[in-house]
Amino acid sequence: MNEAAEGGCLCGRIRYRVTGEAVAATLCHCGDCRKASGGTNIAWAVFDRGDFAWLGDEPEDYSSSPGIHWLFCKDCGSTVGYRRSERPQHMDITTGTLDEPDRYPPDVEIWVKDKIGWEPLHPDLPKREKSSLNEPG
Ligand SMILES: [Zn+2]
Ligand SMILES: [Zn+2]
Repeated sequence: MNEAAEGGCLCGRIRYRVTGEAVAATLCHCGDCRKASGGTNIAWAVFDRGDFAWLGDEPEDYSSSPGIHWLFCKDCGSTVGYRRSERPQHMDITTGTLDEPDRYPPDVEIWVKDKIGWEPLHPDLPKREKSSLNEPG
């Protein structure tokens, strides 16, 4: 899976490329991911920053609290990425914005304690009440 993969936002203004394998892949049910996406959860694929490049315009940056940055397209609003100042070596990408999201399936569900009551959980994935990586604590 060392072939490059690309992705981008709904309108296409933001495009990116990853070249390495994901160092983590999660399905996050936390309240912040719900609000940031408008969906019931966000699937994240986490890459080494050195394996990642924006191909054109860079996204806007919304900081929801110190050191936490949500990256989104100013034209269409898609949340494409997430960065935490405490782990600058990583670039988290919303799996849903990858052109081939099936290549990066999540391997753990996190923040299950915050999930919406009617949202079903994946039958086969391990669960964590809180975070493994994206939202420590
Ligand atoms: Zn866009
Ligand atoms: Zn989350």
